[in-house]
This record gives sequence, structure tokens and C-alpha cells, in this order.
Amino acid sequence: MQFAESKNSRYEVPPTAGLPLYLSDLRPGSADLAAAIAQFLNVEYAQLESSGTAALVIALHALHDLAPTRHVVIVPAYTCPLVALAVAQCGLNLRICDLLPDSLSMDPIMLASLCDKNTLAILPTHLCGRISVVAPIQACARACGAWVIEDAAQALGAHVNGHSVGTDSDITIFSMAVGKGLTIYEGGILIARDATARAACAKASARLAPVRPLVECQRSMELAAYAALYRPSLLPLAYGKPLRRALQVNDWLDAAGDRFPARTVLHRPGKWRQAVGVRALKRLAAFQTSIREQALRRLPQLRAIEGVMPFEDEEGSGTWPVLSLLMPDRARRDAVLQALWGMGCGVSLPFVHALPDYTNLNEVIPAAAQEQHALPNARMLATRVLTISNSPWLDDATFASICSTLARICKQA
Ligand SMILES: *Cc1c(COP(=O)(O)O)cnc(C)c1O
Repeated sequence: MQFAESKNSRYEVPPTAGLPLYLSDLRPGSADLAAAIAQFLNVEYAQLESSGTAALVIALHALHDLAPTRHVVIVPAYTCPLVALAVAQCGLNLRICDLLPDSLSMDPIMLASLCDKNTLAILPTHLCGRISVVAPIQACARACGAWVIEDAAQALGAHVNGHSVGTDSDITIFSMAVGKGLTIYEGGILIARDATARAACAKASARLAPVRPLVECQRSMELAAYAALYRPSLLPLAYGKPLRRALQVNDWLDAAGDRFPARTVLHRPGKWRQAVGVRALKRLAAFQTSIREQALRRLPQLRAIEGVMPFEDEEGSGTWPVLSLLMPDRARRDAVLQALWGMGCGVSLPFVHALPDYTNLNEVIPAAAQEQHALPNARMLATRVLTISNSPWLDDATFASICSTLARICKQA
């Protein structure tokens, strides 16, 4: 596939709306980011880990310590590949649940058929910041004695009924990776509802996540570079150039940022990066309010395009790193990517494939899920989904021209 390229390489919108860091956030300091986030989420207890994936690894180890006979983790068929890798890293077995048709949420009927006495945890996920209803998932979990871990990696700051998303489930994880809103380059948070799960998570973390000065040094330099480069004038260099190089050779995994190491290094985020996070966190609520307004203003424009189906929250009020949507079919989705992915206007993909279609996950995906006709809804979604950045740097005129490209392509026979 030939991708169109921007002729004007002086300006680039990031694929998601990350909270920009100020250089003053980087001044020396030391702080407790877990405590600051607990306060932000209005929960008693939050635990800091080295990434969202690390938080998930810790949560799974903690639950497995509490129920050593249970070894199966059920995840949605379309999600971040790191989720599958985290389960494998814990030595646990994956089971994969399809999504409902044209939805980002797991199919509760298929889920019920996958649950049994071996099920350790089920992972409902708020993909792209869109809130998925977790009550039916919690009911399935209760019926088989499993725990619910909410994957709110992209939803730090989302609310349901006046509470943070995830406060109703046993454990919830949030990511502070690059591109997920608040970032310390790599970081993760877990919250847990009851004292037993909290104690188990704290114990697993103490056992598995040591201080690693070299890794921390590298992350600190990466964070400083990110803070310096995360602006429209420098993103062509930091993000756009590698993106267009990947598109030239049709490497969608690199283009979408979907290539991950098989194992996640667990370690303790250092005090300086925590201080940077605490300073930026003070601006997060205002930033999220303004990008939520932008998203709610733009959603009706997407809804008005015949053939385009934007995703919305099933309940509550989510976060808006991107506007996510379905195109009518693969041909038209791919035509949009061809026209816009390399143009620097923030059009991209959440993830390239449904989990069974990543060749590097072959060994961790159960055989049943790899069959050609398995998981039809998630596989269909993977061929039709698109994201449009909700960065404040994507101006109204550029958004309007994205909409007219979508409309033109939807009209094509
Ligand atoms: C990014 C992401 C993760 C992993 O978080 P990291 O901080 O990158 O390790 C897990 N689940 C979902 C849905 C994600 O988007």
C-alpha cells in the first residue's frame, strides 16, 4: 500500500492527546506519585509500578498467590498486545473472549462460557478511553469465583457515578506510558478495593520490583527528551519521521507502535520522575476538561458522516486521548489510512490486529483462538477501526478536512 505523505513537514499532531510537560516540571525534586494519584482518584490506596504492564504483572502474581490453583486469565480479543505478554510473563494461561459486534466491550455470553474453576481473573478494558460497562463482567467473575482486574490503562481520570473508573472492581490498572495522558515516560498505577488484595499486591511488588538504577537512569533521560520534543514543531522529527519510514515499507506494527519486548522489566520508578509526575498531575484535570469539550464538540461531526460510527461511553464520562470510530469496511478504512496516516494530522490505529493475529504472540494464544473463524467480531473490528488524535494541537480546520476525507471515502462504491 502506498501512503500519502505530508509535504509540510514543519508541523505534526501526536496520535493521542498526551499532557504536555513543562521544562519547569523537570527541575530537581522528590515526591510520592502514588499518594498524589490516590488523592486525584479519591481512593485510599494506589500503588506505583514501572508501567501499566508491570502493574498488571504484579496484580496477576498477587491474585495467583491468593488462589494458586487458578491459572487462567480471560482478556478481550482486541486489546494492547502487552496484556497477553503480561499474562504469559506470569506463567499463566490466556483465554480470549470475543467482543460484542461493533463494540469495544467483551461479549458476556461468550465470557460466561469461558469461565470455570480455573479462572483467576477477567480483564474488562476501557479501550481508547471509552468506558465499558463492567457489571455483567463482574457477575460472570462472581459466578465462578474469579477476580476482576479492570484495564483502565487509557482511562486515568475517567468517572462513573461520581467515582473514578475502576473503584468497583477488585483491582484496576492505569498506565502512565508515553501517549496515555499523564506520563512519566513509563509508569503504572494499580488500585485495589479490599485490604486482602492490597496486601497481596504490595507483597508481590516488594518481591518482584527492585530498584534498578540503570533502568531508572535511562527512563529519566527518555522523560527529559520527551518533554523537550513533545511539541508540534519537533514531533515531525521525534514521531513523524519514524512513522513515515515504517509506512514506506508497510510495517504497520512499527507505524502503530505495536512492537513490544516479550518481557517487561519490573522496577521502582525513581523519586525525580515521581516529582515530575506530581507537578504535571496538577494540570491534568483542567487538560482533560478541555480535551473532553473538544471531543464532545467533534463527535457530532463524525456522527453526521454516513457510514462512520464513532465510539461513545457506555456509561459515565471517559477520557479522550483519541476519537475512535468504525468505518463501513476494511477497504474504506484502509483508504483513509492511505490518505491520512502519514500526513501528520493524527489519524492512526489503536492496535493493528486482534490478539491471535500477532505472530509474536503465537506461543501464548490458545489454539482455539487461532482458528480462522474464531473471534469474528474482534477481527472484524480490527479491520475497520481508526483513531483520530484528540490533541489540542489538531485544529478545527484540519479536523474538518479529516471529516471531509472520511465522507468522500465513505461515499465511494
Ligand atoms: C498501553 C496499554 C497497556 C499497557 O500499559 P503500559 O504502561 O504501556 O505498559 C495495557 N492495556 C491497554 C488497553 C493499553 O492501552
